[in-house]
Amino acid sequence: MGKLLDFYEDTGKERVGAILKDGSVYEFENVHPEPYEAFDVAPEELIRLDDEMKATFHTHPKFTSNLSAEDYQAFTNWPDLIHIIIGNDGPSAYIVENGKVLNASESDLAWLSKKDLL
Ligand SMILES: [Zn+2]
Repeated sequence: MGKLLDFYEDTGKERVGAILKDGSVYEFENVHPEPYEAFDVAPEELIRLDDEMKATFHTHPKFTSNLSAEDYQAFTNWPDLIHIIIGNDGPSAYIVENGKVLNASESDLAWLSKKDLL
């Protein structure tokens, strides 16, 4: 079982983090005012790791890994990263292409699988 699934919990706040290019996983503090419904990360955290990031992840406690409208908006701000949502149906991965959020392809996922993240 992939390491990212360990972050999923049915109860509690949404959890959010980054996967770095070396395959390490880094969890951020969820600073959203309603952390049970959404997530936000302090900008300085993102800036600090920006060059090293390969992917983001966050959880949807009690919900599926489908994109929310907020997720769609947020992902388009980070078009070079793979974005993973972990829900009660497991993980889904998304990429951004020409300003649109799409499901990640097998080749996008190969790296994550190789690192045993998915
Ligand atoms: Zn979300």
